[in-house]
Amino acid sequence: MTEIKLTSVITCPQCGATQQETMPTDACQWFYECPHCHALLKPKSGDCCVFCSWGDTPCPPIQLEHDCCGNSKPQTKLTPE
Ligand SMILES: [Zn+2]
Repeated sequence: MTEIKLTSVITCPQCGATQQETMPTDACQWFYECPHCHALLKPKSGDCCVFCSWGDTPCPPIQLEHDCCGNSKPQTKLTPE
């Protein structure tokens, strides 16, 4: 079993503040509001979530080497369960 980290320290690109956050395992987080300067962070292009862009730990699906939401093969339509 691969151990995954569920916490990530996000560094705000606006004010440089860091904040430890718990990552959801079942979804990607697209938006994150910095608790210090209230900037709304979005993923950089090519990244699947704010943790991959601004956190020190990539999100759980990436850690498990799964395709992350939106980043998987563009031809395949994901059907919700
Ligand atoms: Zn900030």
